[in-house]
Amino acid sequence: MRTADLFKKKQVLSLEVFPPKRTSSEDTIFNTLEELKWLHPDFISVTYGAGGSANNSKTLEIASFIKTNYAVESVAHLPCINFSKEELLLLLDRLKEQGIENILALRGDISPEHPPCTDFSHADDLIAFIKEHADFNIIGACYPEGHVESKSTLEDIHYLKRKVDAGTDHLITQLFLDNDYFYAFRERTALAGINVPIEAGIMPVVNKKQIERMVSLCGVQLPKKFVKMMERYEHDPIAMRDAGIAYAINQIVDLLAQGVDGIHLYTMNNPYIARKIYEAVFRLLAA
Ligand code: FAD
Repeated sequence: MRTADLFKKKQVLSLEVFPPKRTSSEDTIFNTLEELKWLHPDFISVTYGAGGSANNSKTLEIASFIKTNYAVESVAHLPCINFSKEELLLLLDRLKEQGIENILALRGDISPEHPPCTDFSHADDLIAFIKEHADFNIIGACYPEGHVESKSTLEDIHYLKRKVDAGTDHLITQLFLDNDYFYAFRERTALAGINVPIEAGIMPVVNKKQIERMVSLCGVQLPKKFVKMMERYEHDPIAMRDAGIAYAINQIVDLLAQGVDGIHLYTMNNPYIARKIYEAVFRLLAA
């Protein structure tokens, strides 16, 4: 099923997992998925590291496993920055062979260790290429606070509109910790004529290092109440975890009440946290 069709019926709940970094932990991703399936997600997406990391081959395998074994729709992430057109065509063939219908089409982060290939500069190039050569449902990334490289939120919306016009069927946001950024972003997209469903990406923040990395990587703003929470519980891991879960639940309840199209939960491969959040909100999703 194409993910864009899911939004016609309900507010969607999707989950994101990543392939394990070390081969010795490969088993754990399948244990994680075994637990996540009980949360009845509308789809599960599987990340793919730009820059050719060794665990990338697992993305296809895991996405295919989810669809075949759990009858849950899956999405393969696909960052294009290090691919040539020839390599991309081969990868699209492999995705089709595995029965995958949905691609999260990304540029990927540019890293000095892996100089970009020149065939695709931005996600809109990739999306146009996929639309020309194959039949997939396309998902795109978007940024309520603006992408870190953008000069302004207006410039960001301009390019987002190009990405949608190139053939994006649905969007998923980067994490944000202040819902007001999301609501302002939703207004900007509506004004720009972007009419595809937009899922809110929610990351439960359960330790300080995790959010410090996100701030430096993605430029996410930390609201005062969030900073207070971190200061209060940073030396008590269990309290920090529970506070992070409660914070994410509050964000989700507010978003659902405000009519968000869907929630995309960055699970960080932690089924305990995902389950706690699911248990708190599943009745709201069905309402
Ligand atoms: P683009 O849409 O190309 O945008 C990148 C920047 O270029 C923006 O500033 C934009 O405004 C600008 N821009 C866009 N189009 C043009 C144009 N035509 N001309 C000039 N400027 C333009 N990374 C991974 O490596 N693997 C993953 O699995 C992964 N999953 C992700 C999932 C989600 C939901 C999100 C939000 C991000 C994910 N990322 C992943 C991170 C993503 O690769 C980075 O944020 C990357 O820096 C931008 O990717 P993009 O597809 O949004 O790029």
